[in-house]
Parts: sequence; C-alpha cells; structure tokens
Amino acid sequence: MQNSLFIYNSLTKKKEQFIPLHPPMVGLYVCGPTVYSDAHLGHARPAITFDLLFRYLTHIGYRVRYVRNITDVGHLENDSDDGEDKIEKKARLEHIEPMEVVQKYMNTFYRNMNQLNTLHPSIEPRASGHIIEQQELIKVLLEKGYAYLVNGSVYFDMLAYNENYKYGILSGRVLDELQSNTRILDGQDEKKSPFDFALWKKAAPEHIMRWPSPWSEGFPGWHLECSAMSTKYLGEEFDIHGGGMDLQFPHHECEIAQSTAVLGKEPVKYWIHNNMITINGQKMARSLGNFITLDQLFSGNHPVLTRVYSPMTIRFFILQAHYRSTVDFSNEALQAADKGFQKLMKSFDTLNRIKPSSESSLDIEGLRKKCYEALDDDLNSPILLSHLFDGVKFINSVADGSEKINADGLLSLRELFSTFIFEILGLKDEKTAAGDEKLTDDLMKIIIGMRQAAKNNKDWQASDMIRNELKNAGIVLKDLKDGAEWERSEN
Ligand code: ZN
Repeated sequence: MQNSLFIYNSLTKKKEQFIPLHPPMVGLYVCGPTVYSDAHLGHARPAITFDLLFRYLTHIGYRVRYVRNITDVGHLENDSDDGEDKIEKKARLEHIEPMEVVQKYMNTFYRNMNQLNTLHPSIEPRASGHIIEQQELIKVLLEKGYAYLVNGSVYFDMLAYNENYKYGILSGRVLDELQSNTRILDGQDEKKSPFDFALWKKAAPEHIMRWPSPWSEGFPGWHLECSAMSTKYLGEEFDIHGGGMDLQFPHHECEIAQSTAVLGKEPVKYWIHNNMITINGQKMARSLGNFITLDQLFSGNHPVLTRVYSPMTIRFFILQAHYRSTVDFSNEALQAADKGFQKLMKSFDTLNRIKPSSESSLDIEGLRKKCYEALDDDLNSPILLSHLFDGVKFINSVADGSEKINADGLLSLRELFSTFIFEILGLKDEKTAAGDEKLTDDLMKIIIGMRQAAKNNKDWQASDMIRNELKNAGIVLKDLKDGAEWERSEN
C-alpha cells in the first residue's frame, strides 16, 4: 500500500515517511489517563490528536489497531516511586473503594470523549487487568540482570542497562546529566542508584490495592503496564507509540528501557508526542486556580470562563493548532474558534442549498490535493483548515452570485467537505444533533399519544404492537399513571 504521509518521529527528531511494519495493519499505542479525577483539557489534546491520526490512517486505507490504556493502579503521587497511589488517595478522601474511584472517573472520561467525538480505541486495557503480564516482565528483567530485589520490592537497574544500551534516547537526557541533577541517596533508600525506578513495590500494611507475587504482596510500578500491554496487544515491534510531551520523561524513557532490556531491541518505530496546553499563557495547575475540567468548559462553570464552550468549539480550537505547537486557552481565542467553527458549519448548509449552473470556476481537485498534502505533512490540521476556509470563501461567493459551480463540481465539493470536516477532522454539526434530538422527542410525543388513544379504545393489539416495534427500534416505554415516558435502551 502506498501513502505519502510523513510524520515527525520524536526518537529521530525528523519527519519521516510513514512505512508500517505489516501493512495494511498499523499498531498504535497511546498512553491513556490515570483515572483519579475528572477529565480536563490536558486529556482533550492527546485524545483529539491521536483520534485525528487514527481517523486519517483509517481513511487512507489502513486497518489500525488503536490501543489506549487506562491506568488504574501504580501511579503514585508526583509520578515518583514513593508516596500514596493517586487512586487510593482519592478513595480515602471520598470514603469509597479504589475501584469505585476508577469506575467513576472512567465513566466521566468516556462521556467527555464521546462529547468531543473521539472514536473509541480498538482496545482499552486496564493496568489492574494485566498484573500477571507485568510480573512476567519483571521475572525476565531479574533473570537478565536488569533488575534487583530489595525488601520485597523490585527496581530497574539503570547502570546495568546503560552498560549495554543507552538510557535517555527520546528526551536527550543522558545518564551523566541525570546523575548531576538528581539528589544524592541518603542510605535510607532501597534503590542502588537514584535513577533506578520501581517495577514492583511491596505494599505497606495500610495499602489496599495489592496482589500476590513471588517477591511480596504488592503492586506494579507505573511505567511497567505500558510495556506489558503494548507487547501483549501489538507485538514485540509495533508502528506508533503516542502520548503527551510531558510523558517523554520519565515515563516513556522508562518504558523504552524496560522493553529494550526484555526484548533486546526498541519495540517502537515512530514515537509521536503532542505538545502541552496553557491557560492565558500559564501552565495549567490546580495550585494556580486555572485547572479546568471538560465538564466545567462545557457548562461554563469556572471563574476563568466568561461563557459556555461547546465540545466542538474545543475540538475545532485544538485542531486549529498543529499538534506539536503549544495551545493557549483564553476566552478571546475560544470565542474566535467558535466563530470559525460556526462559519464552517454554515458553509456546509449553504453548500446543500446552492443551485448548480452550467459552468464552474473552482479547481476542486486542486483543493482536494492541497488538503491531502496538509495532512500528509505531519498532520498539519491548521493548514488543512485554511484550505477548507478557501472553500468556504468560494461557497459564499457562489451563494451571492459572484462565482459559479456546476452540478458535478457541487457534488465533488460536498464530498470533499464532508470527508475532511466530518470524517477526518471528526467535527460535527451540534445544531443538527440538537435538532435531531428535538425532532425525536416531538415524534415520540405523537407516538405515545397514538398508543394512549389505542389503549383508551381498549385496542390492546395496537398498543402492544407500538410498544414492541419501539422496543425493536431501541426505545423502551415506561407506563405512567397518565401517558408514558420513553428512553433509549442500553444496547
Ligand atoms: Zn504509558
């Protein structure tokens, strides 16, 4: 299969032509959320970036297996090897079970991801469901001499690793530099060297999330799950590993070290990282009071926000920037994005109402070529949008009579807009969605009224038929004293 896609590989620091290992299959692994709090802007960006990549690879003909993990154990405070598990801490504060915390925030995450119209990955494995696979990796690391056991905990031996391989190939941090920048161990620490990291931690008596192992009753280190799950679902070598830039160090460096030590080679062909989000020029942090969850954005319920921003405004705003650039959120910028998005949606409406003439003054195939070129150049969504806005300008000119388009041109321009805007960029017309909901609601009122009339006439056959047919269509009726309510069935 041929493609002209070039992507920036964080490992080689170059744009490289995308050549999959086993076409038409593409393996894509993305580090997912640690589910201990509401999903926020920091989750939206990688979700949208890799959704775009997933959609585009699928569009150009690949069969993508997209794996995004859920971290539900082992991620300790400050991303360190000491301190409380983030999920367990939340459970203690909320007086619920750790797995209740996981479920609650996983539900929010999925709901928000649906609102942002990101497609579900092919597999969403959880760290707690892969404890055995993680333990198997630890056994190999111990056997090969890249790990050691102290007081029931197992640590990765960075110095042993660095004798045969090189740590820090992704972030460019070398061991000497790490050595000079890291605190001196005070002898209390179990680690031989400060940049060793935990593969398995012996659980303290009060620690709730714990599993038996050959070394102690305990839990896996944060980095290990991704090595275990990427190998399990995508194999010892796979095409793309993605995540936010903040994960490069230490998480991805540790993942590379673990996998390389086990397999004898680096498993990932292309590493892709999205850049970070700032709020009014500042880093987003709970301590700065500018930490905005997606629910707060969609409801406008945050002191920083002057109004509500819809999920598609957020999606459009994130796509307006290249994924390797930083994105700065401000009310002004979001309002401008909202205007741009509305303009794009309106032009599609206009496009559906335009009457064709006998001649055409737009080179549509030329426009299509430019759109593909933009995406092929490291997923340049802002350039793609600028080409689409050239199309918008043309559509508006046709509508006011200063340009012309023939029937074939109209068909092909509609197809182009719908492919790039809806299928690849994953935008959707929220007005249509809201309008569809209202229409469904109005129709259901009519149907419920007809069934009530049948019941009043003791025409049970008709009323049962209506109920059963609705059930087949995925709608469940709940009878009330007067009339009925309806809801969509779960499946
Ligand atoms: Zn990961």
